Amino acid sequence: MTKLPGTQGLILEEPLLWEKGDKGRIGFSLPENDVGHFPLDSDLCGETPDLPDLSELEVIRHYTRLSQWNFGVDSGMYPLGSCTMKYNPKTNERQASLKGFQAAHPLLPDPLCQGGLRLIHELERLLTEITGMDAVSLQPAAGAHGELAGMLIMHAYHRKKGTKPTKIIIPDTAHGTNPASAALCGFKPVTVSSNTEGILDTNDVAALMDEDTAGIMITNPNTLGLFEKNLPDIAKIVHDRGGLVYCDGANLNALLGVVKLGEIGVDILHLNLHKTFSTPHGGGGPGSGPIAVLKHLEPFLPIPRVVNNESYSLQENFPDSIGRLLTFNGHFGILVRAYSYILSLGSELPRVTEYAVLNANYLKERLRKILHLAYDQPCLHECVFSDKEQHAFGVSSLDMAKRLIDYGFHPPTVYFPLVVPGAIMIEPTETESKEDLDLFITAFEIIAREAKTNPQLLHEAPHNTKVRRLDETTAARKPCLCG
Ligand SMILES: *Cc1c(COP(=O)(O)O)cnc(C)c1O
Repeated sequence: MTKLPGTQGLILEEPLLWEKGDKGRIGFSLPENDVGHFPLDSDLCGETPDLPDLSELEVIRHYTRLSQWNFGVDSGMYPLGSCTMKYNPKTNERQASLKGFQAAHPLLPDPLCQGGLRLIHELERLLTEITGMDAVSLQPAAGAHGELAGMLIMHAYHRKKGTKPTKIIIPDTAHGTNPASAALCGFKPVTVSSNTEGILDTNDVAALMDEDTAGIMITNPNTLGLFEKNLPDIAKIVHDRGGLVYCDGANLNALLGVVKLGEIGVDILHLNLHKTFSTPHGGGGPGSGPIAVLKHLEPFLPIPRVVNNESYSLQENFPDSIGRLLTFNGHFGILVRAYSYILSLGSELPRVTEYAVLNANYLKERLRKILHLAYDQPCLHECVFSDKEQHAFGVSSLDMAKRLIDYGFHPPTVYFPLVVPGAIMIEPTETESKEDLDLFITAFEIIAREAKTNPQLLHEAPHNTKVRRLDETTAARKPCLCG
């Protein structure tokens, strides 16, 4: 097997903690007890928990070994389409762990957390400038939560106007969370198909946009990594017929400093700070999905809002607000990282987009020689292929994705977006160097050759990992957490 920087190396076996250690072994030494023994009420104690007895070294080795079975962006390229698994500068982590930020209690009275409130207020202002929107709330806890906030705002807007539309238009290239968020607010999603170029056609939207439709929910760039260039015309039709335009801007690293969505017809927008703005993500950790609106929708934003009136304070007196979305005011540590990221890049911010788009187009042009390119268009931050060419040898996207693991890369997104059968959706991100992109391409070239000469090898991949092919459905639905 060709050697690439991958998982071929020392893979340490490690049993469960319960199988290690020995009775009476301890990981710490306390001073001699000089207090007499007092038996506790056994009803209070219950049964002694079954905890293993281990030394300090056994515990350290156990967890260090387990940590090496994981893969993260700090150990290798993670080109998971639609997820922006990019490298996040460690300086932003450092700012987020500053004592004053990290230790601030969420119930501190306003006068005692002026710095934190000011950071929220300034980050809101920076995000309005970046997006071309007028007002922002940092409260939503994730992208999908931002979508929910946006749908609630759309609902509140129509109610205030005295209309009660029941439908919302959603393209077939939207992110999967979009129809779910719309449905949670009681809107019936109506699908509009993308055209042969992979984007929305103005006439197709015009044919669906009627008085019973609240508006459109459009992912831009869409999940094919393509820019919805008809958005201004589509927005005009939606507005003329009384609707609003919602934009899913989770992948803003494709547009940062280049396109201001608020200037091309978008009324409501959400961002993912944990994709674009320097918070590592994955594994269900905390996120942040700020919601941005144009002026006429500002009264509907969630409360409390940070107001600057000589000093900063949290205010709740906004009668048209959709209300509170979280117990506290957003995931503050993530806001600190985003603020630090934006300020540290400053006027260089558009470079993020330039590199993200350049890297994706470079990969697209090199990989199209071995993989079927779904839409032959210049892409933005990601590109979508399929396994059409490899089907002839009985090799699927899943086989190729699994084989990539042997060569040291996290697999790209597969079988999404749904409009491309056998999709392979690659987002290299702006932080990968040309050398690393070339290594990834080399791995894919080797895999494409293996698909022809030795398909069995791919069917059985990965070969070099701790575990081989898992039953992914059962693993997700019935996780076995007790060993
Ligand atoms: C990631 C993503 C979302 C969902 O974000 P979460 O924080 O996972 O809820 C929504 N839309 C798009 C386009 C995304 O890429």
